[in-house]
Amino acid sequence: MTAKGAGRKPPSYRRWPAWQAALLCSAAILPLTSVLLWADWRDVAAPIGVGGSVMAVLGGVLLRQSRRLARTEEALFHSEKHLRQLNASLQTELDIAALAFDTHLGMFITDAKGNICKANPTFERITGYRAEEVLGLNPRILNSGRHDADFYREMWTGIHAQGSWQGEVWNRRKNGEIYPQWVTISAVKDGAGKPSHYVATLSDITLRRAAEQEAHRLAFYDPLTGLPNRRMLLDRMALALRKYSDEGEQGALMFIDLDGFKHVNDSLGHQAGDELLQLTAKRIADISGDSALVARLGGDEFVILVEVLGHSVADASQRMERVASRLLSKLAEPCWIGQRRHLLSGSIGITLLNAGASDADETLQQAEMAMYQAKQAGRNTWRFFDPTMQAVAVRRALFESELRQAERRNELQLHYQIQVDRHGSATGVEALLRWRHPEYGMVPPYDFIPIAEESYLIISIGHWALMSACRQLAEWAGDAETAGLSMAVNISPLQFQQADFVERLEEVLQVTGAYPERLKLELTENLFLQEPDAVRDTMLRIKALGVRFSLDDFGTGYSSLSYLNRLPLDQLKIDQSFVRPLFEDVANEVICASIIDLARNLGLEVIAEGVETQAHRDWLEQQGCHAFQGYLFGRPVPMSTLRVQLRELAATAGR
Ligand code: C2E
Ligand code: MG
Ligand code: MG
Repeated sequence: MTAKGAGRKPPSYRRWPAWQAALLCSAAILPLTSVLLWADWRDVAAPIGVGGSVMAVLGGVLLRQSRRLARTEEALFHSEKHLRQLNASLQTELDIAALAFDTHLGMFITDAKGNICKANPTFERITGYRAEEVLGLNPRILNSGRHDADFYREMWTGIHAQGSWQGEVWNRRKNGEIYPQWVTISAVKDGAGKPSHYVATLSDITLRRAAEQEAHRLAFYDPLTGLPNRRMLLDRMALALRKYSDEGEQGALMFIDLDGFKHVNDSLGHQAGDELLQLTAKRIADISGDSALVARLGGDEFVILVEVLGHSVADASQRMERVASRLLSKLAEPCWIGQRRHLLSGSIGITLLNAGASDADETLQQAEMAMYQAKQAGRNTWRFFDPTMQAVAVRRALFESELRQAERRNELQLHYQIQVDRHGSATGVEALLRWRHPEYGMVPPYDFIPIAEESYLIISIGHWALMSACRQLAEWAGDAETAGLSMAVNISPLQFQQADFVERLEEVLQVTGAYPERLKLELTENLFLQEPDAVRDTMLRIKALGVRFSLDDFGTGYSSLSYLNRLPLDQLKIDQSFVRPLFEDVANEVICASIIDLARNLGLEVIAEGVETQAHRDWLEQQGCHAFQGYLFGRPVPMSTLRVQLRELAATAGR
């Protein structure tokens, strides 16, 4: 790299001082020597001494002057050369910078305050902003909103500590599009070490990200169905297993293999087979819901991973059983491939994942083994790998079939629990179901009502309870001791939502001759979660018959309170879970007091259930609750015992 003008000759004045100085010196020395040679020195000594001295001084001065001049001249020459070289290299650096600035990287420079003072064409291409538009603005205009304040704080800490930072940043283009980019920011420091500018480079990595995603998709998903593949399943299982060891939680794995798929594939060809697999994938995904992971292992093998199933083995097996049963009916729906109708079925193996489970591979093998047992048992069914789960499932299935026969075998029975007013007088009872099991004895409703609901048996069982309670109510009407009592009957949402519920209720009232005014239906909040308008219509029709409504277990549901004044309710029933431990937690007191207030403000009656002590009763009365139900007054008892209770109560209340 040669700078222009380097190597040119030095200027001409550099040559004269040497010979001129020599001439001057000889001019001073020559007369002196000739005089010394040819004359008596004493005659000439004085004038020569003076003249010589003058000449010598003059020569010395001239010589020094000329040397200094030469040095200055030389220095001047060097500095000019240096300047020229410097100019040249500065120009080069500027050329390089300009060239670098115009690159495939987006670049912008900000001043110390962070305001943009220069941006290159690639910046314009990436961001969609023209350089003039952003001059003087803060790069914040590019923020996508995807990063929080901490992110930017860390970025600036990096820039200040190390002088530069780089990382992936999601920004927003002028057209609103959000895109990923790789960003490098460097601080340029002034002589005092303070940042004077910041230089940022950006490269759009949208395409790279898309390519990475595609690679990820190929590695972890099944191309035919789009479902996660074995690799992803095993990864997720390993994660889940690690979690279970920490939290005591459990999950389950369901292994599904289509029955007779090979036959379809062989006889109709792979195209038809593929279509069938895609359809099956969709059906399985529909049934398992969003929270489960559905994977295809290959062929006609699918797996569902359900991660969160709570702590109880019994609950977990029940839930998986329900999924299996729904899945089998979904698979059994006829499907069309081309012009042909097909009937499918599957065999399912289920195993638990929890802290005691072995690794992911082994757990998968267990589920597969259970699936083979299902195949052996005749296909289109499920089997549990875990003996306890299997036992629970078997017991439950048996229980359900026994419950189905309970009504016919006269094993169902109603018990009655007294409700009292503030004076301790009985105002009514709540009818509560009991199942007298030939082997287990008296089964409490908490053990069989959920099974009855899942199997829809609650519709006929509930009808039986309603009929029996109304028969009792009609019988009481003719007896002075019981004539004034009301009868509360629990109605399950499923039963209430039957299209003919109102007609059947009318029929019950007619057949039994019970006074509708003495009948109170206990509904729960979950009834209002779906189709609240339809529920309201049905309630209004029932209300028109003279029947009353109580809202049971109030405070335990999740529904909004806004429905309360839109429904023809008569009573709120404070749930026993707040009353029994009333003084154990101040929150219970607050909840009870609020419910009582709410009832008063809405013009509704309020009753507290689970009243076990006199202190409960007194506190509740003080808050304004004047109706009570609980062990303090009487447990649920059969009719014969109820009579005894009523007499005892009448005696105490009268006192
Ligand atoms: P529920 O309607 O909230 O009934 C109140 C439950 O609380 C009854 O349990 C009753 O025995 C209990 N209980 C009342 N006072 C106290 C007390 O002071 N202390 C304690 N520890 N418990 C008290 P039960 O009879 O076991 O009934 C449980 C649930 O079964 C009922 O809750 C109700 O949801 C359901 N159920 C009972 N009979 C029927 C029915 O005929 N049809 C429907 N659909 N569900 C019913
Ligand atoms: Mg109740
Ligand atoms: Mg209740």
